[in-house]
Amino acid sequence: MSDSDELKVLNPATEEVLATVPAATAEDVDAAVVRAVRAQHGWAALAPADRARLLRRFADTVDAHLEELARLEVSEAGHTLGNARWEAGNARDLLEYAAGGIERLLGKQIPVPGGWNITFQEPLGVVGVIAPWNFPMPIAAWGSFPALAAGNAILLKPAETTPLTALRLAELALAAGLPEHLFQVLPGHGHIAGRALVDHPDVAKIVFTGSTRTGREIMERCARLVKPVTLELGGKSPNIVFADADLSTALDPFSFLDNSGQDCCARTRILVQETALDEARDFLADALAAVVVGDPADEKTQMGPLISAAQRERVRSYVPDGAPALRGSAPDGPGFWFPPTVLVGERHDSPAAREEIFGPVAVLLPFTDERDAIRLANDTPYGLAGSVWTRDLGRALRVSGGVRAGNLSVNSHSSVRYWTPFGGYKQSGLGRELGPDALTAFTETKNVFISTEGPAQ
Ligand code: NAD
Repeated sequence: MSDSDELKVLNPATEEVLATVPAATAEDVDAAVVRAVRAQHGWAALAPADRARLLRRFADTVDAHLEELARLEVSEAGHTLGNARWEAGNARDLLEYAAGGIERLLGKQIPVPGGWNITFQEPLGVVGVIAPWNFPMPIAAWGSFPALAAGNAILLKPAETTPLTALRLAELALAAGLPEHLFQVLPGHGHIAGRALVDHPDVAKIVFTGSTRTGREIMERCARLVKPVTLELGGKSPNIVFADADLSTALDPFSFLDNSGQDCCARTRILVQETALDEARDFLADALAAVVVGDPADEKTQMGPLISAAQRERVRSYVPDGAPALRGSAPDGPGFWFPPTVLVGERHDSPAAREEIFGPVAVLLPFTDERDAIRLANDTPYGLAGSVWTRDLGRALRVSGGVRAGNLSVNSHSSVRYWTPFGGYKQSGLGRELGPDALTAFTETKNVFISTEGPAQ
């Protein structure tokens, strides 16, 4: 575990150093919390319409810098340009959506005897957001923007390897006129800056996205302070393909290769009805061979590198030399490359079939019927996402009802939309982000009873 006082940010496609960023210490976190508490008081006191106006201005500023933000994401995270443009656009759209929710963050009037009863949704205060490296910009946005809209201040700790887009977003927030210290970014090590945020008594909530192992530790530490947490953790999502489906869309290899497979929702368990297994194998072999892997800044590239040498070693450990597999190609030379791979000889309970690999590697497994498909789909500790492919609507509904996961799609690989709730069952997490309740998740409900009977005589 490193405790260097600087973070070296590498371009994962070239291994060149892009930037060196100071790593926040526990004392830096303490000082940032003091500033954030002050900024939050002023922010929460603004009229909702004024907060909404400032967040819309922030959205416009992000919009004016979309290409710059996208290219920064390409160079620090190795995302393809097309994906990175979508991610920057997603951050802008979420700001607009969150701004639109501020004036609809309503309390209730509840009929009670002896008086009037009103509820209020009040901001929590300072929210700590701890983000991973796989989608640095969108995940920073999902945790931070609805919380800002609800009247909170944000302390965002990006991952060690990918602090640059978050730092740029904070600069753009200031340029758009958001109050100073309202949205602060603290690049740093997880066990130092991240832990200091988690342990700080004036940080009212932690939104964590990352591995299940770290999420568990954060939940334990938050329990000591009875601090609420939202946890968005790992996944091992099934892609359930019945023989009546259109295999060419159901088996789109980017359902597990997007972002080089470093996607918590990647459909890495390809479950195919046994009568279609040979056809599926042939289709995937051709599809993997056709994937263009290379320089992520090239418009034609479909898959970039992994984030780091350590991540490549982890992925490699699941794909022993000589393992029966379908493989695409990957560049040699500098950069953290790994070829698109589908393991075809795995048992359904092997580590490669049950554990999150977080690379461009899926397993192909046969199933017999609906019951078998549901049983296999649920046979992991995770429950984040999944797809069901069939032309039979009744079967699609039965299978989606049987799979224990937070985000299912029928005849689609889509998982995340900012209009709809996102989060996991089982060890994939706790709580939901995005969707119509995104702002409420960053509030406390206060109940006020007003007696109409006057003071006792
Ligand atoms: P990670 O758990 O190693 O780190 C995530 C963040 O936590 C980093 O910022 C890290 O510095 C910080 N951290 C590490 N130790 C900490 C500690 N003790 N206290 C506080 N903070 C600490 O995860 P990662 O490798 O960066 O990300 C990959 C993981 O994220 C995968 O498991 C993936 O599935 C998951 N993920 C989940 C979602 C989701 O929405 N469910 C989305 C993206 C990624």
